[in-house]
Amino acid sequence: MSQITFEMDELHWALQVMDTIDVGLVVLDLEHNVCLWNSFMQSYSGINGDKILHQNLFDVVPNLPEEWLKAQIAACSELKSRIFSNWEDRPHIFDFKNYSPLSHQRINMYQNLVMTPLTSLNGRVSHVCVMVQDVSDVASSKLQLRDSNERLSTMSRTDGLTGLFNRAYWESCLSKEYESAKLLTQPSTLVIFDIDHFKKVNDTYGHGAGDEVIRQTARLLKKTARNSDLCGRYGGEEFTVLLPGTTADQAHYFAERLRKRVEEYGVDTSSGPINFTISLGVCELSPCIASHLEWLESADKALYQSKQSGRNQTSLFPFE
Ligand code: GH3
Ligand code: MG
Ligand code: MG
Repeated sequence: MSQITFEMDELHWALQVMDTIDVGLVVLDLEHNVCLWNSFMQSYSGINGDKILHQNLFDVVPNLPEEWLKAQIAACSELKSRIFSNWEDRPHIFDFKNYSPLSHQRINMYQNLVMTPLTSLNGRVSHVCVMVQDVSDVASSKLQLRDSNERLSTMSRTDGLTGLFNRAYWESCLSKEYESAKLLTQPSTLVIFDIDHFKKVNDTYGHGAGDEVIRQTARLLKKTARNSDLCGRYGGEEFTVLLPGTTADQAHYFAERLRKRVEEYGVDTSSGPINFTISLGVCELSPCIASHLEWLESADKALYQSKQSGRNQTSLFPFE
């Protein structure tokens, strides 16, 4: 085999590899004219080599992040160094679609890019090779895992029936609020409330209707509270609300507003509307309260006072 035939053979193999490799290969000169566009790029872009070779990349390929990509190519050739782009920073550079076995849908292809400077025989960078790796499988699995973890973490914090914070999580918020409100000397008030004669609701209308009363109470609570208030389901038909930055007077106003809303509301059932009421206790944090649990106990004392005085009312601790 002559030297020329041997070299032609090598080139032939190299071209076959470039065209069968499962990676996009694009070679650009420093004016961004396309000098190589392999099969991977043709199949995913739908743009054949004869349409793009010797043309400016940005004139032919739509939706490219032109400014950013030009800056990367310039950095690669000027610094004579490889440049990497990760899908977590920039998920989709070339607007390619891909089939996802996880979601059974066509999704935008997640891509990693590697840009390599190519030197000519005189040692100067004359071209840049852009490699496009399809990382959709890895990206989709990672995003799904992230999503599941977020949902798990939300589930572990919330009560299934009402969507409010559950007791454990709400108590951890109370403990944190106690520590920070004490240091910042900003007001902070706790409200605890309980549905009146709830046992009778269960006994008269059944457990399902009882559950609906709890759900609707939580809904009215969310409607009445501010975004910054922390609402929890403390136990069966007992709720707690932490109102940071709120004085006892303001919390009393909130409590009375909620109490009236509940009183006016009727839960629809097949045997007619169920009317019910709540009793509430309010306690503002003060220096004589030694722990977050004592704060909770003080609010609970106020709730007990409301129950003792006939229910459907709000009491403040310390008692006036
Ligand atoms: P009071 O006015 O003194 O608060 O009386 P009450 O009947 O509301 O209080 P009690 O504590 O005697 O009854 C609460 C009832 O709530 C008892 C329990 O079976 C019921 N319960 C607790 N959790 C749930 C729940 O998730 N769903 C339903 N339907 N009932 C619940
Ligand atoms: Mg009750
Ligand atoms: Mg109770």
